[in-house]
Amino acid sequence: MIVGAGIAGLTAARELSSRGRRVIVVDKGRGVGGRIATRRIDGAVFDHGAQFVTARSSEFQGEVERWVQAGVAALWSHGFADGLVGDGSLLTRAADGSDTPHMPARDGHPRYRGVDGMTSIAKHLARGLDVRLSTAVASVTRDANGFEVIDATGSTTAASAVILTPPAPQSIALLDAGAVAVDPDARTTLSAIGYEPCIAVLAFVDDGSAAGAAAGGSIGSGLLPEPGALRRPAPQVEWIADNFAKGSSPHGPALTIHCSPSFSAEHYQSDDATIVDRIASIIRGIGLPALRDAQVKRWRYSAPVAPLSIGAWTDGLPSGLVIAGDAFMGARVEGAFLSGLAAARAVGR
Ligand SMILES: Cc1cc2nc3c(=O)[nH]c(=O)nc-3n(C[C@H](O)[C@H](O)[C@H](O)COP(=O)(O)OP(=O)(O)OC[C@H]3O[C@@H](n4cnc5c(N)ncnc54)[C@H](O)[C@@H]3O)c2cc1C
Repeated sequence: MIVGAGIAGLTAARELSSRGRRVIVVDKGRGVGGRIATRRIDGAVFDHGAQFVTARSSEFQGEVERWVQAGVAALWSHGFADGLVGDGSLLTRAADGSDTPHMPARDGHPRYRGVDGMTSIAKHLARGLDVRLSTAVASVTRDANGFEVIDATGSTTAASAVILTPPAPQSIALLDAGAVAVDPDARTTLSAIGYEPCIAVLAFVDDGSAAGAAAGGSIGSGLLPEPGALRRPAPQVEWIADNFAKGSSPHGPALTIHCSPSFSAEHYQSDDATIVDRIASIIRGIGLPALRDAQVKRWRYSAPVAPLSIGAWTDGLPSGLVIAGDAFMGARVEGAFLSGLAAARAVGR
């Protein structure tokens, strides 16, 4: 059994299924993907978790190419401008400290997007798998035959092996709740893996005409520098992208704004209206139009602060139990994929 239908869990499930293992994937969410997430608002499409995938390993590059061939991923760009706030304009700061407007940075690495939002990729991976959604696991226990996975309703599923892919401290908590013996050093290490929060604001912008929204009106795809996204336009904003310019939303501008880790931590408990007000005024300050119809999404466990590079964790755990996810192979979709593969291999041994 695999807990978590994010990229790590789905990758592990596909790998094990391809080797003839019977696999059940459970996730507490209503859809697959975990931190790959897409929200639809008034016909527009907003990616509010991962924005794109990059492939640096040949193993993941091969997988991404299969996604492109399957028509679920497409090339978006080779880099993004790193913007700094000037006097009301969007600027790119070069290595020598000089500022130029609207120049995309290119580092040679291709960035891919999901064709119909990032969840296209997760839905593709989940195809043909036994995925049970809206199932929150409350504990994992051990018995003579292997493990029992108990969900929040008390329903129990027996499993010969279990791969846990929630954030590492949550995975440890599931084992503690079921009194599974974990080596103290392993518990200490895994419980201490910290995660940064991220507040995402999803918003349309005011195009100055009352009819603009209803008509799906767009004030053009040139709202942000090519290819429609900007890193760090202000200290409080880590990322801003227009899902319309990106090619994922049929109309827009449809903005995804990711707040910086420090702003997100400071405002995590603030109400939505306060967050939107603060971000809206920052966005106005860099010369973008006013936000309207903004929604807020909070990611409590956005990214592991100090991810390991060990594949998947088995040390100090009972045989047949593996903890995986982006905390073990890099805080990106690629890391989650590689950790999922490593987990499947560990179970298969
Ligand atoms: C705002 C944001 C922006 C990002 N941008 C990028 C980017 O541009 N590029 C990139 O490569 N990466 C990006 N990332 C990181 C990337 O999304 C993650 O590294 C990757 O998706 C993690 O996958 P995972 O399978 O390890 O974990 P997750 O996707 O978190 O999957 C874990 C799953 O476990 C489920 N779960 C947890 N507890 C339980 C339980 N008790 N019972 C049942 N199910 C449970 C959760 O619902 C979740 O679906 C971003 C992440 C965030 C949050």
